[in-house]
Amino acid sequence: MSRLKENFFYSRVFLSEFIILGLILFLFAILLSDSLLENLLLLSLIIIGLIYFVDSVGAKRKEQIRIIQKAFDDIKNNVLASPDEISLGKQLFELEADIKSMFLKTQTDIANLKKLEQVRTEFLGNVSHELRTPIFAIQGFLETLLGGAVDDPKVNRNFVAKAYSHTNNLNNLLHDLIDISMIESGQMRMSFRYFNVQEFLIPIVNDFKPAAAEKNIELILYNIKSKLELFGDKTRIKQVVTNLISNAIKYTERGKVEILVLEEGKFGRILVRDTGLGIADKDISRIFERFYRVDKDRSRAVGGTGLGLAIVKHILEAHNTKMEVKSEPGKGSEFSFLLKK
Ligand code: ADP
Repeated sequence: MSRLKENFFYSRVFLSEFIILGLILFLFAILLSDSLLENLLLLSLIIIGLIYFVDSVGAKRKEQIRIIQKAFDDIKNNVLASPDEISLGKQLFELEADIKSMFLKTQTDIANLKKLEQVRTEFLGNVSHELRTPIFAIQGFLETLLGGAVDDPKVNRNFVAKAYSHTNNLNNLLHDLIDISMIESGQMRMSFRYFNVQEFLIPIVNDFKPAAAEKNIELILYNIKSKLELFGDKTRIKQVVTNLISNAIKYTERGKVEILVLEEGKFGRILVRDTGLGIADKDISRIFERFYRVDKDRSRAVGGTGLGLAIVKHILEAHNTKMEVKSEPGKGSEFSFLLKK
């Protein structure tokens, strides 16, 4: 009896259809016969038939709901390894396809969240490590100075200068971290406009003249068509070019750093070329990762944070363009990107 009650409960969504069917059958019965006894008999038959009908519809519906619930429970309890393990039978094949794709999406979402979590943990670890290095160095120099070196004219200025240089590293790191967090939180708003490339590049290159001269490196900005305009966020593109020229000078011991603008159809290519250390093939794809440096000590010694090219990559992505790198160890590197004319 309780099974019947349960099946009735499951078929309740079809209540109005059952009532209409019963009424239609009963009307037919009245039309076919005038005898009250026959009508009562037919009515009883119709009621019995309907009970059977409602019971079997309810049973089927109950079974289908059970199968669907099991599929959801399996997904919820993480017992499925692959979507192929989900099977709802022939009659529910459309729903089965939907549940399978939902399962796949959930799986990829979870995998992405886990990856993100891991990236965050790694990032935090890297940041702490990067902070520790200059802070330890500064502490070391200050301790030595306090321990008596402050009165030793042979070393005191040198130690203060070294501590100061590490505060510069800290400052660079802080700026790059602010940029990274702005990019991550979507706060780095771009403002795209046409800008004159010649007027844009001349002051940037001039700012680097002292740094290049100090290393005896020739810094050359080749002639640019005076009317040439490119489309982009001038402030952010300045950050990109500044980073490229700064890296070119940092990682070049002798020779030259050249800046060129080439016209390529509807685009203009800004190119920074150096005759420096170069980068091995295996490292080229990795230098855009946060904190990846080919030579950590060298990068730190020249005030590098390992974040510059990661920021550059994001900025260029926001411009729908990307950095192209050609490099040969020992010969030099060439970094360039296209912008719309
Ligand atoms: P960093 O602050 O260390 O310079 P970047 O993200 O700007 O960080 O660059 C990542 C790494 O790529 C550098 O540490 C360096 O090893 C390598 N690199 C970048 N530019 C050059 C270049 N012009 N020549 C040789 N190596 C370079």
